[in-house]
Amino acid sequence: MMKKTSALEIEVPGGETEILLHVCCAPCSSAIVERLLEHGIRPTMFYYNPNIFLVEEYEKRKGECFRHTQMLNLDFVDADYEHDKWLGEVRGFESEPERGARCLKCFRQRLMVSALYASTHNFKVFATTLATSRWKSLKQIVEAGEYAASFFPELTFWAQNWRKGGLSERRNELVRLYGFYNQSYCGCEFSMNRDRGNFM
Ligand code: SF4
Repeated sequence: MMKKTSALEIEVPGGETEILLHVCCAPCSSAIVERLLEHGIRPTMFYYNPNIFLVEEYEKRKGECFRHTQMLNLDFVDADYEHDKWLGEVRGFESEPERGARCLKCFRQRLMVSALYASTHNFKVFATTLATSRWKSLKQIVEAGEYAASFFPELTFWAQNWRKGGLSERRNELVRLYGFYNQSYCGCEFSMNRDRGNFM
């Protein structure tokens, strides 16, 4: 069974109505979650982003995700902040450009932990809000999600393209409407100090 919308084709693998959604931040989650709920799909919000530097920035982004989740009366999973472990995962790739090899490792690590949680909590489908940003490689995110899912036979990574169907415009409207904090860099220390203004 497939669920469809006129504005954005939504095809939930297996017709699932409950999914685990790895969320990177409130701005990137906002329009996706709205669209999911409109179509009867309830996401559990899984916050696992050990890439974020500094811890104050991590707490700020997490706090906004939690506020968003509470507004919608959804479940929020607060996973660990393992920044040292994350640094170990990307060691040797610190000077890679954004969308390079470091980012693929970053996505794999975050989605592996998401997939493990999904698998051990009876979810059949998981997805991520990571692909919302045009600064990230959609191809890398799909590759990382499918890699993570490959370790769990009952689990499917939902590789929806969230940049279509007016979701980017709706994201910006919702950020203004709710006054969400909108970060100016991707997250890790290697992505800081870029002179490019708003991250989106
Ligand atoms: S730039 Fe962003 S996606 Fe790439 S490694 Fe840093 S936090 Fe991860």
